[in-house]
Amino acid sequence: MTGALNDLTFDNRFTRELPADPDTSNTRRQVQGALYSRVHPTPVADPQVLAIADEVAADLGLDPSVVDDPQFAQVMAGNEVLDAMDPFAMVYGGHQFGNWAGQLGDGRAIALGEVLTEDGGHRTLQLKGPGPTPYSRTADGRAVLRSSVREFLCSEAMHHLGVPTTRALSLVTTGDQVVRDMFYDGNPAPETGAIVCRVAPSFVRFGNFQLPASRGDNDTLQKLVDFTIRNDFPELGAPTEGQIPLDVLAAWFTEVARRTAVMIIDWMRFGFVHGVMNTDNLSILGLTIDYGPYGWLEDFDPGWTPNTTDATNRRYRYGNQPQIAYWNLGQLANAIHPIMEPLATDPEKNAAALLTEGMDMYAQTFETGWNDAMAAKLGLRELSGDADQELSADLLSLLTRAETDMTVFYRKLADVSAETEASLSDQDLVAPILDAFYEGPEVRYPLTDEIRADWVAWLRRWAVRVRADGRSDADRKIRMDAVNPKFVLRNYLAQLAIDAADKDDPSVLHDLLDTLRRPFDEQPDREDFAAKRPDWARVRPGCSMLSCSS
Ligand code: AMP
Ligand code: MG
Repeated sequence: MTGALNDLTFDNRFTRELPADPDTSNTRRQVQGALYSRVHPTPVADPQVLAIADEVAADLGLDPSVVDDPQFAQVMAGNEVLDAMDPFAMVYGGHQFGNWAGQLGDGRAIALGEVLTEDGGHRTLQLKGPGPTPYSRTADGRAVLRSSVREFLCSEAMHHLGVPTTRALSLVTTGDQVVRDMFYDGNPAPETGAIVCRVAPSFVRFGNFQLPASRGDNDTLQKLVDFTIRNDFPELGAPTEGQIPLDVLAAWFTEVARRTAVMIIDWMRFGFVHGVMNTDNLSILGLTIDYGPYGWLEDFDPGWTPNTTDATNRRYRYGNQPQIAYWNLGQLANAIHPIMEPLATDPEKNAAALLTEGMDMYAQTFETGWNDAMAAKLGLRELSGDADQELSADLLSLLTRAETDMTVFYRKLADVSAETEASLSDQDLVAPILDAFYEGPEVRYPLTDEIRADWVAWLRRWAVRVRADGRSDADRKIRMDAVNPKFVLRNYLAQLAIDAADKDDPSVLHDLLDTLRRPFDEQPDREDFAAKRPDWARVRPGCSMLSCSS
């Protein structure tokens, strides 16, 4: 059979080329002078496949029918390790909530190996929740079903939206129970254990560079930098051997900054809130990584964070994400500075100056990209000049005044007629977007007459601007629908999938995965998945607030 697990070719560059921890015992420890520890998953009782992403399987060269092979569940649960695999956990550090946390590492993730794809690409398969590693610290290395459903669905939803992200091949339940104190209230309870197999060209994070840098271990740091540039950034043209020159190192940091900006713009335009933007959760490839207490903005509130652990300072709130990514890049710059500085010969172009250029690339990419994204969301060719900036800024402030569903609003704006605006009554003009406003006794900021009048005024300004752009309503709608999704993984939708999966019914999970494959398409039989958050989900845990305890 072709397309089976045993047909995969592994090319395990990370473990072949980089320094390993010589200790192969599975005991918690500090690891110096190495970038990973070899460690095997701990077997589980009864692996059952709940879902696979066919496209991810195909990308790896697997036939989707692989799911029917009993070996697949065993491998994706960590019970069986293929001969060609070389499992390991990476050691990294990070700033958590702004504070240096020292050594962290893959505490509940084990990379199995790197699949060589047909086109010569590499895909690391990584199990999340496969049991303890040397980096598990005081925790168990396991993951529960609810967090695994959320990771599986969201990484695929993000991919189909076009957001750079790690992928998810499979979701298996383990047959074991995992004890979690979901609310941090002293009431731990057993939950269904699960494992997601994540897939990405590399799972290296900013924190992987920070840890050796924090220890003054430039030798280990240099090895990781060289490996990353040569393997994951071939377009930078680094020499295959010897010292990588300063300009290539600088170009690399600038490219990381650019990619990070592109990713953040995507989060912002779709209303995604990561929730734990610690430096150990930022990918060196600019991929969205580590789906934990993330959330989707429903009522548009830039101050919102889904993460209960962050409720006080709200460091990782929606509106703060662009600044936090910049701050995180600054930490990465600090980490790689020591290996750049000795190479600098021109005082005008010393390491700090080059890294600052990289930081500037982030700011420029973000500014330009965000303008383009907003223009596209509004159905305009571009935002040019002060009046356009005001139109956009006024919208963002108007969106916060009454509880307004971000996704529904942008989607429905496409239906407002700019062509006939001048002859429409206020009521008819605003009618298409009314569905975006939350209503009912629970709503703290309802749509008052005054706010509604402000909406009418804004829509009339927007319509005038759209007409000046010269696009027909029909043409504009096609373009807007291609950038303003109908379907995102609303927090309550993920919870519906979890509730059903908890009762051994993966159908909601499958239906959601299927719907989220085409987030920009109208899918009339799936209108229920496009509905804004129902009242019951307003305060329900998992739907509005999430903890890191997963
Ligand atoms: P996070 O903020 O979820 O990205 O996790 C921060 C650190 O805690 C990482 O080193 C994780 O590997 C580790 N960690 C989180 N949950 C667990 C767990 N259940 N068992 C072991 N380590 C964990
Ligand atoms: Mg993490």
